[in-house]
Amino acid sequence: MILDGKKISEEILLEVKNKVYDLHLSLAVIQIGNDQSSNVYINQKKKLCNILNIAFIHHKLDLNISEKEVLKLIDVLNEDQTTGILLQLPIPNHLDTKKIQNRINYKKDVDGLNNINVCNLINNKPGIIPCTAKGIMTLLNKYNIKVAGKNVVVVGRSNIVGKPISNLLLNSDATVTVCHSKTKNLAYFTKNADILIAATGKKHLITNSMVKEGAVIIDVGINKIDNKLYGDVDFEKIKNISSYITPVPGGIGPMTIASLAENLYDAYILQQED
Ligand code: NDP
Repeated sequence: MILDGKKISEEILLEVKNKVYDLHLSLAVIQIGNDQSSNVYINQKKKLCNILNIAFIHHKLDLNISEKEVLKLIDVLNEDQTTGILLQLPIPNHLDTKKIQNRINYKKDVDGLNNINVCNLINNKPGIIPCTAKGIMTLLNKYNIKVAGKNVVVVGRSNIVGKPISNLLLNSDATVTVCHSKTKNLAYFTKNADILIAATGKKHLITNSMVKEGAVIIDVGINKIDNKLYGDVDFEKIKNISSYITPVPGGIGPMTIASLAENLYDAYILQQED
């Protein structure tokens, strides 16, 4: 069965739209440089804001901007009426990503990457959760796929996907194994997975011989090759072995966008508590 992220995300967006349409929320996106993939992702965010009637403010900064100037902009946004602030990654190497993320008021941190939000997630306390990880959990919930007691294997350990999804799963009583590029015999782990989550950025890394019959497969990967999108999972070969599987595109991508919408609303609610 296909896990239809596109359909579920449309349902979520409608719910969020009903809540935020008249609230005059705003999203500030900070882009440093002119990365082509970033331009595409920022356009998606702009479209999202149009749908939700959220003001979209794009701060496109020079590639060579100093850290001091970026921090100064964040200080201004922290103090003004902006609802959500998002640092579009990647940023140039001369800038300290974590330092900049930590400067964002955690109540406006719609990416959930500020250390306060990261700590809340690790400690299983309420906070803003990174969008892709949140989107995966929402999709599993919507299809009534239980994770408690399941063997879940996460391939990838990035701060934006692998680590937060691993923590969310642990918080939901799954038995979690995290694999990465130094893992020896990846297939040994993936074959044992009741639920397999691939977030590596390696086209078709996961093949049919690496998957247990009846497993749930979540493919986070977006690999653009010759203008075509591929996942980290060989969908065609695995779709008939798995019980549920996400397509690429139309799976976790739209769920990530839907989670950003939810995070903007959550940020607004958090700021009302001030
Ligand atoms: P990163 O490059 O930050 O992390 C990739 C992870 O995969 C690393 O932990 C790396 O291991 C691991 N890895 C790489 N190669 C292998 C391998 N051969 N075997 C096992 N593990 C491996 O990527 P992101 O987490 O940011 O993104 C992952 C993918 O998800 C990308 O394709 C990205 O485009 C996509 N993505 C999709 C989103 C969506 O909305 N659908 C949102 C965010 C990302 P190590 O740590 O050892 O280097």
